[in-house]
Amino acid sequence: MRPSREDVYDSIVIGAGQAGLSASYHLMRRGIRHLVLDADGAPGGAWQHRWDSLTMADVHGVAALPGSEGPEAAGLVQANRAVPAYFSDYERTYDLPVVRPVRVESVAGVAAFGEELLQVRADAGTWWTRTLVNATGTWSQPFVPHYPGIETFSGPQWHTATYPGAEAFRGHRTVVVGGGASAVQLLGEIALVTETLWVTRRPPVWRTDDFTPEAGRAAVAMVEQRVRDGLPPASVVSVTGLMLREQERAAAELGAYTRRPMFAGLEPHGARWADGSFEPADAVLWATGFRPAIAHLAPLGLRGPRGGIRLDGTTAVSDPRVQLVGYGPSASTIGANRAGRVAARGVAASLDAQVALGA
Ligand code: FAD
Repeated sequence: MRPSREDVYDSIVIGAGQAGLSASYHLMRRGIRHLVLDADGAPGGAWQHRWDSLTMADVHGVAALPGSEGPEAAGLVQANRAVPAYFSDYERTYDLPVVRPVRVESVAGVAAFGEELLQVRADAGTWWTRTLVNATGTWSQPFVPHYPGIETFSGPQWHTATYPGAEAFRGHRTVVVGGGASAVQLLGEIALVTETLWVTRRPPVWRTDDFTPEAGRAAVAMVEQRVRDGLPPASVVSVTGLMLREQERAAAELGAYTRRPMFAGLEPHGARWADGSFEPADAVLWATGFRPAIAHLAPLGLRGPRGGIRLDGTTAVSDPRVQLVGYGPSASTIGANRAGRVAARGVAASLDAQVALGA
């Protein structure tokens, strides 16, 4: 059947994680006709892919989605079950228009049906929309920095995104790379079953005082400023400092958090430092973070000369039809929630502007 003007949506949300669901809820409340296209086969966003040993006691808190109480599960319940179950209930309760699995491959500006539209091409079809809310998170873009010899290392190399659980490391001397919260958490497990060596580019910054809401707001404000300036966003967590929790105490007693500077390169059976020293290793775990999953937006040319997408709130400065949520300062469950509301407002403003232009 040939597409017609009725196939044009007022908005399309890409991604049904915390950010996409929050945006969809607020679009619904505003009566904005939209769809949510999600690449995963089931509800849960990135949470459904997190490792089995990550319990609700380990996560720093999953903010309640708008209009809801938040996940009931706590303690030793697996996060990769509890959060997807919560999202699934939420989608049903609010009858959110989620379509899955649909992996969006590109978004481009086109003239169609007598309007300037955004064309959303995916593995499962093509859609047209007047505005877009991008909520694709970072999980599908694990980042591994390049080091000389990385391809010659003979043992397994894992990333946080593929962490197979501590048992896979038993008896394998493991280098854990990265100075973030994931490295701290995963060392807390692996160090109990094998010898570990922690390497980070910069000395870790430990947070000793009680982390105050003001410090949290300051960290978010710093990332906000980066995206306002069109710089690539930094992780909010990377500017809040690290903390050892009860779960990590046993690993700490084993010396797991004695950090070494970054190695210069990998060799088949270990890591070599610039001063010539060598440490044998059987496995490497890259806890080196993620990057925004935004390659499908490339045809829109949103990225500026400073390497990032300049945002005003959640609105792309170079194309106000586009909102980015769960990006930069809103890359946390609480930030994603708020961003959903702001994005719905931005969508409404863009639709109004388009009507005014067409009038
Ligand atoms: P996601 O949950 O990643 O959802 C993105 C969705 O987009 C997915 O469903 C995916 O299928 C879909 N998608 C991606 N690409 C496409 C495409 N091309 N086409 C269609 N769909 C696509 N934050 C907290 O606040 N508290 C915590 O305790 C906490 N713990 C964390 C633990 C770990 C290990 C990690 C890595 C992060 C943690 N965070 C935590 C951060 C938090 O999880 C995220 O900021 C937040 O959940 C991200 O939500 P999101 O909606 O942006 O992305």
